[in-house]
Amino acid sequence: MTELPHILEMTPDDLIFHMQTCAVPMQPGEARRILSHIISDGRDGFPDRRPVASRLSDAVAATTVRTPLVVAERADDPSDKFVKYLLQAPDGALFEAVRIPLEKADTFTVCLSTQSGCAMACAFCATGRLGLRRSLAAWEMVSAFLTVRSEAPGRVTGAVFMGQGEPLANFDATIRAARVLSDPCGGRIKAESISISTVGIVPAIRRYARERHPYRLIVSLTTTDPAKRQALLPVAAQWSLDELALALREYAASCEDRVTVAWVTIAGVNTGDDEVSGLYRLLGNLPLRVNLVEVNDARPDGFKAPGRVELDRFRDALKAKGWPVVRRYSGGVAVHAACGMLASVRALCP
Ligand code: SF4
Repeated sequence: MTELPHILEMTPDDLIFHMQTCAVPMQPGEARRILSHIISDGRDGFPDRRPVASRLSDAVAATTVRTPLVVAERADDPSDKFVKYLLQAPDGALFEAVRIPLEKADTFTVCLSTQSGCAMACAFCATGRLGLRRSLAAWEMVSAFLTVRSEAPGRVTGAVFMGQGEPLANFDATIRAARVLSDPCGGRIKAESISISTVGIVPAIRRYARERHPYRLIVSLTTTDPAKRQALLPVAAQWSLDELALALREYAASCEDRVTVAWVTIAGVNTGDDEVSGLYRLLGNLPLRVNLVEVNDARPDGFKAPGRVELDRFRDALKAKGWPVVRRYSGGVAVHAACGMLASVRALCP
């Protein structure tokens, strides 16, 4: 028996096409009203009687599924108002989503997982130590977003695919989720307010560039020393830095934005002048933006974040090359919601 499609994976065109395959004609306005009701307005169930005829909502209900996620736990860090959601899929798979407060009052973004666990094994990341359990379906990402948004005390204006997992290792589902989140009948998030991060899977970056997706791609570079990079990001053994730079050039040519490079800063490891000149040699001819994210390693003998002086010095040296540099605050440390700390465990409430 063919599996029924999930309603949270659909844009209006998808729904019209699906209903055509079920021999139920549907007008674009009807598809828009149904999806706006369910996704944009986040209502449970299907609209009855209005805003569409009940024969249509019954047909949609009978030919699609809307399996829910379960919130296994929510934990908020009172020091910075980050809220971590531990979510459980119907098969028991666990993964997190995090509500992140933005600078503008009462606005939030949501950090979403794309996999349960991760195969990339980055040395500084708790998710990497789990290994990969499975990739998430697009509906699980959209459902996670809707769950977090439904409880936000303000507007959710963005989404970042930076939780558990490597988004480009689950390319199709991640792009499908981003498309639903940015649809006017879906999450209603502007495409430019959606970011997708990657540790640097070269063929996937090249595909992303070819397909010209409108979301911001953030590439975690973290060091330009090949040996150090392979130690910190084992996936780097598969492609040289020159191959990665070439893929980023293709990406830069495909979009009108700067290329955003993320740098997980680690005390005494990757904040020296050699890294600044290495970055300039590698990508100096590209319009770059550098996001600094301090490492969060809960292990007593784990990596340490740089102190104020070391971080400021590194940031100033990068800025001196003409690149905009942003220090990304990764909060929720007390409840293990910060970057690199997501490991499907219940929060250690402060
Ligand atoms: S940093 Fe991202 S890609 Fe690396 S192990 Fe963690 S979740 Fe996976």
